Amino acid sequence: MVHMQLERRGITDPRVLDAMRRVKRHHFVEPAFRDRAYEDSPLPIEEGQTISQPYIVGRMTSLLKIQPTDRVLEIGTGSGYQAAVLAELADKVYTIERHMALMRKARANLEEQGYRNVVVKSGDGTIGWQQFAPFDKIIVTASSPVFPKTLFNQLKEGGLLVMPMGEKHNQKLVLIERVNGEAIMNEVGQVTFVPLIGKEGWKANDSSDSISMSGRGAVR
Ligand code: SAH
Repeated sequence: MVHMQLERRGITDPRVLDAMRRVKRHHFVEPAFRDRAYEDSPLPIEEGQTISQPYIVGRMTSLLKIQPTDRVLEIGTGSGYQAAVLAELADKVYTIERHMALMRKARANLEEQGYRNVVVKSGDGTIGWQQFAPFDKIIVTASSPVFPKTLFNQLKEGGLLVMPMGEKHNQKLVLIERVNGEAIMNEVGQVTFVPLIGKEGWKANDSSDSISMSGRGAVR
């Protein structure tokens, strides 16, 4: 998976590649999909959500240039797979999931896999986690139609935030850097993610937040 799907597509950061070799994706997918755990695609998890495609996890992680001293906030815990990859690289990972059932499962799974530096909670991640702010890096693994104002305010000076942004079916992967309090935004790719639902995202009734399996959490 790491060689064919990541290295060959230009992900070269050795720390990211090592981290993704260490985290066993089959521990984070549903039992019915375990034999497909290392395929080049997102897979369904409970609550109509998805575990992202390995390449997208590698790409977003690389863009954040995670340092061993970093405190990282993730919005959209899902399966906990991306959180595990971050936990291999950072000092501490804080992750928020809006579906209680997914949060519980991810928390138990991360604990079972031996991750002691991940804190998981359920709630609306669009308002961040003020108690532990500011963060060196922020990653949002669901897509928003609006600029993440509150999350940006919880980002350290010089910090990086990566997230999908745009319409329901046409999203850009955006990398935001905080420089002198200002947001420097760069589009770094086309992606398709499940919607970010909350105060500073889509409204719960904009449409269902569940997916058809047409490549959510994938590059196009
Ligand atoms: N990072 C995950 C991918 C999860 S898919 C993984 O590695 O498996 C995106 C997740 O974001 C879904 O589980 C969805 O429920 C969650 N989500 C959507 N809106 C949210 C919000 N406002 N706060 C927290 N989680 C949210």
